[in-house]
Amino acid sequence: MLDILASLNQIQSRKRSLESLVADTINGIRSGDEFNIFLDIYEDNSLAKAVEIDIKIEQGTAGKLAGCIIAVKDNICVSGQKLTCGSKALEKYITPYSATVIKKLEDEDAIVIGKTNMDEFAMGSSNEHSYFGPVRNPDAPDRVPGGSSGGSAAAVAGNFVPVSLGSDTGGSIRQPAAFCGICGMKPSYGRVSRYGLTAFASSFDQIGPMARTVDDISLILEVISGYDPADSTSIRADVPEYSAEIMNEQKDMTIGIPKEFFNEELDSEIRNAIESKIEQLASDGTRIEEISLPHITCSAAVYYILGNAEASSNLARYDGIRYGCCAENAEELEAVYSKSRAEGFGEEVKRRIILGTYVLSAGYYEEYYGKAQMVRKMIAEELNDTFNKVDFIISPVTPTPPFRLGEKTDEPLNMYLNDIFTIPANLAGLPALSVPCGTTSGRLPVGLQIMGRYCDDLSVLKLGKLIERYNK
Ligand code: GLN
Repeated sequence: MLDILASLNQIQSRKRSLESLVADTINGIRSGDEFNIFLDIYEDNSLAKAVEIDIKIEQGTAGKLAGCIIAVKDNICVSGQKLTCGSKALEKYITPYSATVIKKLEDEDAIVIGKTNMDEFAMGSSNEHSYFGPVRNPDAPDRVPGGSSGGSAAAVAGNFVPVSLGSDTGGSIRQPAAFCGICGMKPSYGRVSRYGLTAFASSFDQIGPMARTVDDISLILEVISGYDPADSTSIRADVPEYSAEIMNEQKDMTIGIPKEFFNEELDSEIRNAIESKIEQLASDGTRIEEISLPHITCSAAVYYILGNAEASSNLARYDGIRYGCCAENAEELEAVYSKSRAEGFGEEVKRRIILGTYVLSAGYYEEYYGKAQMVRKMIAEELNDTFNKVDFIISPVTPTPPFRLGEKTDEPLNMYLNDIFTIPANLAGLPALSVPCGTTSGRLPVGLQIMGRYCDDLSVLKLGKLIERYNK
């Protein structure tokens, strides 16, 4: 499977037709059924679009993504198609409109090939919380691909598509990217429109690209970024031409290494892999500084209070009437609500709704929600202050390599701790990229995380490209 840039080149120079590429891609996806990556494949639509785009290429009127085939996480709306969010509640739901990111990609003639499996409503770190069954990691099929964008990560890692879209609320792009040995970017909050992304925790959620190279990430980010009047939290800042600007190397920088992240819980092989990249950076003249972020250790606790509080409110709409499957044999309104929700939601989603409702309830609101809001602010301030002293923060993406299917399903808290390194960027709205950083002795992928200043997604990409080069 070619990377996007190579594929665009091949298609746009007419070495092959897009129609044949789409047909081959669909056959490839079908041959990988055992990984359970795709929930829907848009065969007829994609082939019909390919024919149209082939003509546009001949006429010289095609967009800059003519030749790009992309898979999309099933919590992002594609008009006229199913949108399940990995849930029984939405098993039969057809969305009437497309997300802004989909419109932007299609305006540039990218082809959305289908939808990828995910943890139900994006809640999870292993893709085992999908109503449609778990996804297997293409690099190690007895292991999880990470989550919640596990399907999108596996689609790229298994060479079924060159690029995919995921969503990241607490790490769901970066953690599966690390587990599958690919790149994944959570953009600055507000950089990419959330219009058409099913809300989990609205003040954290961002859509972002997953791909094998930082160049491909940059190209897709450039297309999907920008102000959107349909999303009141999208920002008005200009979008740099990431794919061109990334060629100017990142020089003269200081990198902060938070000592709190390199604790005893960190797998020793991951630690060694990250440290060897830091040494390489240092020997190339980069200044490396140990930093301390004392409040960051509260990140997971804060996230699981605020994230679940927002989720409990966002998921109220799946009541069997407005959205969600409607239970049969419910005789009165209350029963319609409770039975539909009891039947539609899985165990993890219910756990989060109960927790979220609890922390918002009278008597506990100040104690939990109010306090967590204050600590979120402290963590964000701590990070922003740190960026007065250093240009980037480098850390691992996950404390362990990908774990075995079933290994953590009975231990929700242990599962939650997978996100300790990724959550801070969501709490503070900062851009963060996961890039591959070698493998363990058992050949399991390791990821390295780069966090940067708010709205300076470009510098994060540049440093990502530099580190990617060290892997070669
Ligand atoms: N794993 C985290 C959770 O379960 C993050 C999810 C996400 O980023 N969508 O909440």
